[in-house]
Amino acid sequence: MSEKIDYQKLEKKLTLQKKSCWEVWDDKIKKQAFDFAEGYKNFLNKSKTEREAIETGIELAQKNGFKNITEVKSLSVGDKVYAINRDKSLFLARIGKQGLDNGMRIIMSHIDSPHLDFKVNPLFEDENLAFAKTHYYGGIKKYQWPAISLALHGVVCLENGKKINIKIGEKDDEPIFMITDLLPHLDRPVGHSGKSEYHEIKGEELNLLLGSLPVNDSKIKEKVKLAILEYLYNKYGIKEEDFASAEIQAVPCEKARDLGFDRSLISAYGHDDKVCAYSSLMSFFDAEIIDQTQVCILIDREEIGSDGNTSAQSVFLESFMLDVLKLNQKNCDINEIYHSYGISQAISADTTVAVDPDYKDVHDLRNACRMGFGLAIEKYTGHGGKYSTSEASAEFLQKLRMIFKKDKNIVCQFSGGIGKVDQGGGGTIAKYLANRNIDVVDAGVALFNIHAPLEIASKADIYCAYLGYKAFYQE
Ligand code: MN
Ligand code: MN
Repeated sequence: MSEKIDYQKLEKKLTLQKKSCWEVWDDKIKKQAFDFAEGYKNFLNKSKTEREAIETGIELAQKNGFKNITEVKSLSVGDKVYAINRDKSLFLARIGKQGLDNGMRIIMSHIDSPHLDFKVNPLFEDENLAFAKTHYYGGIKKYQWPAISLALHGVVCLENGKKINIKIGEKDDEPIFMITDLLPHLDRPVGHSGKSEYHEIKGEELNLLLGSLPVNDSKIKEKVKLAILEYLYNKYGIKEEDFASAEIQAVPCEKARDLGFDRSLISAYGHDDKVCAYSSLMSFFDAEIIDQTQVCILIDREEIGSDGNTSAQSVFLESFMLDVLKLNQKNCDINEIYHSYGISQAISADTTVAVDPDYKDVHDLRNACRMGFGLAIEKYTGHGGKYSTSEASAEFLQKLRMIFKKDKNIVCQFSGGIGKVDQGGGGTIAKYLANRNIDVVDAGVALFNIHAPLEIASKADIYCAYLGYKAFYQE
């Protein structure tokens, strides 16, 4: 006779138990998660654009003892430096006990979020109203952007070399801007017109209403546009031609706010990917020094495919590494960097999608991430047939699992690909690190409403990202 098997025990031992952070955590850590969220909301409200996120990042770095690499003469163990690329990406390093020879621990996130850019020739007048033409940046659903309050953020570079900072629409007493929408009375899905759908917003209809007051001169053809230009000239010294050397973005005015009776969620513009930027930055500051040099990078232009000199594909990364190497009194040789890449580990810290009960059928529910279920680790992203993505190796994932397992409060959920096979998909910057011969995996926060003017994140997942990143940096 064989011994009687306790199948309940066996089930616990052999099967994957998915649990939410709220079920795993005690009250003490729940409170820590809520406290962490306060700092994060603060960061978000100051960092709606790439430039602003980098500015806030530098402020935090300086507060934590980091020095600009251009002001440093040499680097030794424990030294902390940062480098800025064109005000749009930020590279931070803390020298490990073995310099770069033992590889690096890198976390890279992105700080650009979908928004509307002013076109190069934005201003026009129609029906006695002034507008600005925009070109959307990143993957938006266009219908989400009309009829909401928008603020303008950016810079205008004048002929005289002055750089004007613009930020209008954030304070309660400042005006806001808006894209108009068609009234439902004239846009009925079913009616005499026989239409089956609402009007689809076109890219060229994303025009921002700027004003309606004309100048007082009957000889002027476009009186309202001229009145706007007069205002811009008097206030900032901007002429119409200056928009050619400007970067002005329309972003939602809304502040980051607690969502739900229990305040367990946060609604905000730009969780993707400032949630990973903030949590990786904080974990980087708080982590202990190890043998390997720790690197934290906030990168730009992920939302449009990582092209450009401030993107993850830019050789600024190599240039930064070489500078660190040189100051660390080593041969300044690119081969040293390549060697270091080969024995480095990286996390591409980016957001992914959580199962929304209203839209379950886009997911393979057995391989999908849930809101509140902790750090979301994607073995690969891309689309059908694993195109346009790198994939983390079994060996690397095993090492990561063991790091995260050491702390029971680091709740993880593993997944691969976004949504059902052949449903669609999406990419991250992971492949640009993988192409450099670095072991890398995506790990971040699962969201609702990705790329909408307001996205939703769980305070549990945000704090879990912080805990997971910190463990990755120091274990
Ligand atoms: Mn992202
Ligand atoms: Mn995105």
